[in-house]
Amino acid sequence: MKIPKTIRIGNKEFKIKIKNRISWSKKISGQINYDDKELMINKKLKGRDLESTFFHELAHGLFHEMEFNYPQMVKFRNDETFIQEFGLNLRKTFLDLLEKQK
Ligand SMILES: [Zn+2]
Repeated sequence: MKIPKTIRIGNKEFKIKIKNRISWSKKISGQINYDDKELMINKKLKGRDLESTFFHELAHGLFHEMEFNYPQMVKFRNDETFIQEFGLNLRKTFLDLLEKQK
């Protein structure tokens, strides 16, 4: 899957940046910054890992957006196990959808 340069979450346009280093550690795979509207992915990731990280960070972003109308969402957004599962499922279904567009 081609990772886009930007992605819309709610009414905000997030920039997607592929970076050598995200914050303080080279080991961090991805991060989303809601204030700067940036979704960052570690440059070392390829293929499935790259996609999974993209969907993981997107999941954080979607749940953050949903908190506006449903503040209880915060507990899901901060639950890394939940976000990981949600992101992996989002990836699978989205790839299936893309495949069926061909
Ligand atoms: Zn996370």
